[in-house]
Amino acid sequence: MATLLKGAPCAAALDSRTAALAARLAEEKGIKPQLAIVRLGQRPDDVWYERAAQKRCAAVGVLVRPVTLPEETSQQELLAQIHALNADESVHGVLIFMPLPRGIDTAAVCSALDPAKDVDGITAGSRAAVFSGSGAGFAPCTAEACLRILEHYGIDPAGKRAAVIGRSLVIGKPAAMLLLAKNATVTMCHSRTPDLDSVVRQADIVVAAAGKIGVVGKDAFRSGQTVIDVGMNCGDDGKMCGDVVFSDAEPIVGAITPVPGGVGAVTTSVLAAHTVAAAGNPA
Ligand code: NAP
Repeated sequence: MATLLKGAPCAAALDSRTAALAARLAEEKGIKPQLAIVRLGQRPDDVWYERAAQKRCAAVGVLVRPVTLPEETSQQELLAQIHALNADESVHGVLIFMPLPRGIDTAAVCSALDPAKDVDGITAGSRAAVFSGSGAGFAPCTAEACLRILEHYGIDPAGKRAAVIGRSLVIGKPAAMLLLAKNATVTMCHSRTPDLDSVVRQADIVVAAAGKIGVVGKDAFRSGQTVIDVGMNCGDDGKMCGDVVFSDAEPIVGAITPVPGGVGAVTTSVLAAHTVAAAGNPA
């Protein structure tokens, strides 16, 4: 039986450190960390995540300012909101839900955000920091949550082979860079990777972020592997499930995150931690 890498204990440990830092900021500098959440429209996943983020932030002493805009908001209006948040000294972090509605230039919106308030790693500056390993910017929260889980459970990537399935800018690529910074030997896999099962089988650490149920089969797994399943999919039974078929992998591998209750449970804790860090180091 694999060790279950549950997200909740990792999130709780991170939250208690974040809450202590937030309390110290309030006490010593009179700063109350605040996160603005910019949402266009009412996509159920976004609304759900916003509520989860609000709850988490409240628990650790981070204020949340929801900036809820109609789906038909123009690019000009959205950019004006972002410039206002950049200029507002009481706001330390800004989360903008993606994807943005059609007709809005995502690149223009990302580059409008002050990199110092970019707590979810969407600006070019934050990406450069993650890719250079300089530590000067924030990584996307979900990618960092994968590393936080490994750290919490004492799984050191140094010297290990890691396979990351998925190469998006929000999860796959930054997760690969964060693993590389921890001295793993990283293979990045994607939809054109031939014989994915055999590539994944060679890895000691597998990060699955493809958004596809059963992206690898039973042959991809062997004993001793650590599997971090980022996928959040809706199964045939209507329940949330990961990219890895849990019942295939769990009897074989050494450790695995559940879905739900794995990476997803840590993401909002990372978001709150980034906001407090941004408040402690204003630009
Ligand atoms: P994305 O932008 O759609 O990227 C998916 C990546 O997976 C692409 O690079 C794609 O390859 C690759 N891929 C797709 N099918 C594949 C296959 N059969 N074999 C190998 N690679 C394949 O998705 P994303 O935004 O990175 O999200 C990935 C998953 O994470 C989704 O399930 C999403 O719901 C979940 N998610 C979870 C959290 C959380 O907190 N747990 C947060 C956000 C997202 P190509 O580049 O070749 O197309």
